[in-house]
Formats: sequence, C-alpha cells, structure tokens
Amino acid sequence: MKCRRCGARAVAHLRHHNLALCEECYSPWLQRRVRETIKRFHLFDRKAKILVAVSGGKDSLALWMILTKLGYEADGLYIDLGIDTEKYSQRSLQYSRAMAERLERTLHVITLQETIGKTIPELPAARGTCSVCGLVKRHYMNTWAIEHGYDVTVTGHNLDDEAATLLSNVLNWQLGYLERQAPCLDEREGFIRKAKPLVLCTEKEMLIYCMLNNIEYIQDECPYSVNATSIFYKEILNRIEHEIPGAKLRFYSEFIKVKHGIFKGFRKERLTPCKICKTPTTGEICAFCKICIAPPKPQHSIRETSRASSGPVRAKIEKSGRNSISSKNMEIKTGSKKEV
Ligand SMILES: [Zn+2]
Ligand SMILES: [Zn+2]
Repeated sequence: MKCRRCGARAVAHLRHHNLALCEECYSPWLQRRVRETIKRFHLFDRKAKILVAVSGGKDSLALWMILTKLGYEADGLYIDLGIDTEKYSQRSLQYSRAMAERLERTLHVITLQETIGKTIPELPAARGTCSVCGLVKRHYMNTWAIEHGYDVTVTGHNLDDEAATLLSNVLNWQLGYLERQAPCLDEREGFIRKAKPLVLCTEKEMLIYCMLNNIEYIQDECPYSVNATSIFYKEILNRIEHEIPGAKLRFYSEFIKVKHGIFKGFRKERLTPCKICKTPTTGEICAFCKICIAPPKPQHSIRETSRASSGPVRAKIEKSGRNSISSKNMEIKTGSKKEV
C-alpha cells in the first residue's frame, strides 16, 4: 500500500479515515490533527501556560511531545501514586523523566506518600481503586496547577478512552457525567481549565506515533486496572469498529455536536468550597478530602486507625483539623513537590 500524500511505502493504514501514510508523513499528519482539535474545540491559545498530566504511558508522553513540537509552552506533572507492584510507579516516573530531558522541559513530581502519608494501595477503596486513583489525580492536577499559575491542565485521554466513558455513561444514563463529558471544561471558581487534545486520535494512532518517534513508555496496564470495566467497554467498541470502521469516531464526535442542544437548561448541582481544601464540591467536604485527609471515624478498626495516623505528614494534617481549613494542607501539598 502506498502513502496517500507522497506515494512512498505506507506504514500505517487507518481504515476509519480511509488513509494510508508513510513513515515520513505520519507524524506531521497526527500533529496537525491535534492542532486542529485544539482550534476546533477552542482548547487553549498560543500563549497559554500548559501543565500536562504525565503518567509514563504512551498517550500523555506523546501528547507532551506533540504540544512541544507544535510550539506550546508545556510542562509536565507526574503524581507518584506509590504503586509497588513490579515497581509500576517507579518505572512510570523514569519514562516521564526521560521525556522531560528529551524535550528540555520541566517535570514536576508530587509523591502521594509525602503529601498525604499514604499510597494508592493504602487508601480505602470502597469506590474501587481506579475511582480513588482518578479522584486523587484530578484533585492534584487542579489544586497544584492553580497554585503554580498554570492556565490549563491537559490530559492524554484518547478517542478510545472517551468513547468507552461515553458508552458507560449512556448505559447507566449518568446525565450529570454526560453533561460534563467534553474535550474542554472551562475554568470557573476553584477549577482550572481542563482540556483533552487527543480526543479525536485513536489508541492505535497514538501507538504508531510512539513507535515512529521512539517514545519509550510503560507498556503494562496499571496492576489495579486489570478488571476495570473501561477495558471491557473498549473491547466491545473495538469489535464494533472492526465491523464498522469509523463507528467509534462518529459515536463520540456526534455526541459532542448534539450535546449542547440536549443539555440546554440542564440544572447543575450547586457547589460550595470544601471546608478542608477549598475545592468546590456538592457537600461540606469534597470526596478527595473525605478519603485522603479527613481524620478516620471512631468506628474504624484499630489497625486502620494506627496506620492512618502514622508518618509525619499525616500527623501534621490531623493536627490542622477539619476546621482550620486549607492553608496548612496547601503547605503540605506544595512543600513536597520536587523539580526535576
Ligand atoms: Zn508519505
Ligand atoms: Zn477537599
């Protein structure tokens, strides 16, 4: 098969675009597609100070490289979740550091163990580990970016991720989630602007980009995501895509087109600042603080209580108490950052 652009031997055949591209033409094509996504959805402007949520995986590392190649000012933020299984967090950090060096950009690192005195596996996981992990990452991406003067945070969610989330939200008719599912969430009181420049790029497209640009990334799935329903939804969507090329892209992009009309007049929940961290929330204390910061309730087992109160950071947080609000917690959070 020949490249549609230059006639050389094609290395990638993208059935959903009915497009074949060679090694030379592929990366500029994908970069242009990201640039068009940024423009089409008004994600951010040229001068924006961007913070990329870097996980060590292919999408976030490739996104960081693409934004830099497109001329944007983008730094990285890596959140060390303390996942020990096969040194998952450690290896992910190494790949992230290697990309920072390659791009000559700053990688900021937050270590959960230092910040809240616990790692992801040690946090209560009644909502499921992936859900708690997502909550923690969103919290730090938001508060840290605001505190450090960034204009927008970007994540490497690709089309496959977004289509799987959309399928899940539709199957469960999660109207609140559907209303918020978008390539960009504008900044508002207590929330930084959030953007997803890869929403129109498939997982396969990102994989090819990484291979052609020698991007090394953590290839294993997170050990906690093995049974995640999102993986099942992706498999289902891939089966549909195999039979109907382009179905995934249409499913997502048509939703984004009609969404505004569907949710016109949709009443959003009223938010007030969390009593501990000030992040807007529906209750008195946000979900992050309930799980990670708030003192354990008396009915907790002795083992849990003693573990929860160990470590210097934990002790500091407990001393600051529920009512002394955020300044001390902010101090704890920012105090543990390192620059690489
Ligand atoms: Zn070509
Ligand atoms: Zn909070």
